[in-house]
Amino acid sequence: MTLKLRTKIVDLLKKGEVGTEVVAKGWVRTRRGNKNVAFIALNDGSTIHNIQIVADVAVFGDDFLKEVGTGACIKVVGTLVESPGAQQPVEVQAKSIELYGKADPASYPLQKKGHSLEFLREIAHLRPRTNTFSAVLRIRHAMAFAIHKYFNDKGFVYIHTPIITGSDAEGAGQLFKVTTLDINNPPRKENGKVDFSEDFFGKEAKLTVSGQLEGELAALALSEVYTFGPTFRAENSNTPRHLAEFWMIEPEVAFYDIEDNMDLAEDFLKYLIRYALEHCKDDLEFLNKMWDKELLERLNSVASTSFERLTYTKAVEILEKADIKWEFPVFWGADLHSEHERYLVEKHFKKPVILTDYPKEIKAFYMKLNDDAKTVKAMDVLFPKIGEIIGGSQREENHEAITKRINELEIPMEELWWYIETRKFGTAPHSGFGLGFERLLLFVTGMGNIRDVIPFPRTPNSCEF
Ligand code: ATP
Ligand code: MN
Repeated sequence: MTLKLRTKIVDLLKKGEVGTEVVAKGWVRTRRGNKNVAFIALNDGSTIHNIQIVADVAVFGDDFLKEVGTGACIKVVGTLVESPGAQQPVEVQAKSIELYGKADPASYPLQKKGHSLEFLREIAHLRPRTNTFSAVLRIRHAMAFAIHKYFNDKGFVYIHTPIITGSDAEGAGQLFKVTTLDINNPPRKENGKVDFSEDFFGKEAKLTVSGQLEGELAALALSEVYTFGPTFRAENSNTPRHLAEFWMIEPEVAFYDIEDNMDLAEDFLKYLIRYALEHCKDDLEFLNKMWDKELLERLNSVASTSFERLTYTKAVEILEKADIKWEFPVFWGADLHSEHERYLVEKHFKKPVILTDYPKEIKAFYMKLNDDAKTVKAMDVLFPKIGEIIGGSQREENHEAITKRINELEIPMEELWWYIETRKFGTAPHSGFGLGFERLLLFVTGMGNIRDVIPFPRTPNSCEF
């Protein structure tokens, strides 16, 4: 059986055989021409480059060709010929054109001229048809694929951790609730509080903020695992680096200490950047030209320099000495903000930085306590333009130590009984981290706003599409 498939435009441009008949399908980016001939730039999303379709006005008629304008979708049958123009190696001399769908130029929102990224966010249903977004989406795909490839090649097992969670252990207050109760008239207990025992799960449920805790359970059996799934945070931070729904990659490895964990994080990030440089060349060159003239330089530089590693305490000393008026004050014990992180990376060290040994008060309960009893074996990887791209730690594997910490923080123990049991039965030193997928994409694409590296962003007051 012969499939009546089109040839992808990427293949026509790269390895199409001149002189053969080809079928191309796609969306018209632009149409120009004169009274004899129309030149149609056609794109099907397989590459940043368009193929030029040459259509004789005498054959197709002026009225028909007018409908084949920006945004229309067409099928073209024609001959692949060498192009006289310098823009492209080959073009298609059209024999027949079928108009699948026209796009009325008076109302089609995407015009030839460039649109602002803010405007494009309002038409996220159409923005994949722009050069910029199709490039970002191809890179997004390539990075997702490379992440699985990296871990698969190393023998890690991909674990699907739950999206609905019953435990409130991490980041209270940032969780979206999941319920089937009638919120206008919920069942109530005698004390007036909502009776969640009548809810779908018989208890309160939320959307997960991280797959880590369940990832740890799997690591303490399969040794090397990773998760790659959606996570949700109801934090009301309207920044260019935060989404309410984002994707996270969380490797978790038994027998790794914090040093091994840092080595993995650095190797992993460099692998992904090199993968992008190798496999997304055309798209990166386009983004470099359009949005960020230093993108390729930055990617090459990070892929080839070793990351600076230092303690939180040393970093605070550096920040205190810096002659800068910080928006958020710096002192030992303070949480570092993007302005501090970026100063260390962009101004002081001029390369990625891994900070370790944070005060226990500003980090999560599961991080392993250092001998000083003040700091924990945390590690944050800080990147130029982004700030924190990875947060991780060596985990507290000691049963006594972790229950003590859970009690100190007044986390309800009964919600975490299963987690604590792994410390009771065959515990092992282990470590892991979380990489925000969209933060990685911000870095790799050079885009400035996290809303522009996910197809349909969810942020405070915005849940369209
Ligand atoms: P930040 O301090 O930047 O808000 P965090 O410390 O809350 O981040 P973690 O809980 O350590 O983040 O999550 C691990 C990783 O997930 C972060 O390093 C970051 O790459 C990513 N991440 C965290 N929150 C968000 C968010 N709201 N949107 C997109 N990515 C996020
Ligand atoms: Mn963090």
